[in-house]
Amino acid sequence: MRRITLLGATGSIGGSTLDVVARHPDRFQVVAVSAHRDVAGLVECAKACGAQYAAIADPALESALVLALREAKLGTRALAGAAALDHIATLAEVDTVVAAVVGAAGLASTLAAAAAGKRILLANKESVVMAGPLLAAALVAGGASIIPVDSEHNAIFQCLPRAYANDPALHGIERIVLTASGGPFRGRSAAELEHITPDQACAHPKWRMGRKISVDSATLMNKGLEVIEAHWLFGVPRECIEVVIHPQSIVHSLVAYRDGSMLAQLGHPDMRTAIAYALAWPERVDAGVAALDLGAIGKLEFEAPDTATFRCLDLAYAALAAGGTAPAILNAANEVAVEAFLNGRIRFSGIATVVAATLEAVSTGPITALEDALLADAAARQRSRAVIATLQG
Ligand code: MG
Repeated sequence: MRRITLLGATGSIGGSTLDVVARHPDRFQVVAVSAHRDVAGLVECAKACGAQYAAIADPALESALVLALREAKLGTRALAGAAALDHIATLAEVDTVVAAVVGAAGLASTLAAAAAGKRILLANKESVVMAGPLLAAALVAGGASIIPVDSEHNAIFQCLPRAYANDPALHGIERIVLTASGGPFRGRSAAELEHITPDQACAHPKWRMGRKISVDSATLMNKGLEVIEAHWLFGVPRECIEVVIHPQSIVHSLVAYRDGSMLAQLGHPDMRTAIAYALAWPERVDAGVAALDLGAIGKLEFEAPDTATFRCLDLAYAALAAGGTAPAILNAANEVAVEAFLNGRIRFSGIATVVAATLEAVSTGPITALEDALLADAAARQRSRAVIATLQG
């Protein structure tokens, strides 16, 4: 029996995880759930899976959570604040932590789970982007392991040898290829992107996701963050990480080997496949997802990304090349810029402008402690807001 803490239970990954868990009550049990600010959603999750603990990240909502749990007649214990997330990520009775918090807010709890030696099902790519070296060290020190849930990295994990130990050359691996759907604006020119709205940016053609990651997908920043994530998760140098646009979102990523073989993982664009794989690994269980009908799909297309129009991908490669705190700065600037775009304060093209200007202005340094990443994150947020103010003026 796997006993699970689900961080970010009310989001899209959280919902898919609860769906897979409910299909296998003999194998999986959710012990603890968390949410950022959605008290009603969190209580629903706790009720659905019978969690013993429910943690709300915003400490101001503690009494609201206590009240809502009481009204729902649940015996679930209420916890609140950032420390509560760390607490449920390290519970002795839990062996598996699903890290599905959105954004930089997920870093501390992911690191805590690593230090506590948990099996981490990682959907929070921002924690790898912000503090890749720290997370790698914490995994070793804590005896923890990561199974990626991000669909591309889950696909790569599935295409790597079972004994893979972050040494691509040893296993004859030449490069990894991340697929990207291209988002809702694939094929559009920069001029055509000037007046698009947040709702248009969030209308992803293939995946149903939260608003932040949907915008990241539309700018290609999501793929940029995934390049950095792949570098740290698999120990592959950036020049051996390639991005290809694949509009059908059927091939979730590929590994190219020395002998000319390319291994790919294919499936419907449904996160339950990756989640079920990660939960049951090394076994396989029903995810509620049908097999592909290749005849009905007909054709699979691939093309190079338009990096001149979608500038965020190259900005991410540049941040990875710069190293140290540069990826944390990139990530923070992007979070601030996406929020400003979603609130109607900057244009779609302004997201790349804010990230580029912030990367240029904030000085980078090495990452040796959590504080380095957090300070870089704070400095980048401050600078990004200043850049946004100039764009608005
Ligand atoms: Mg992904």
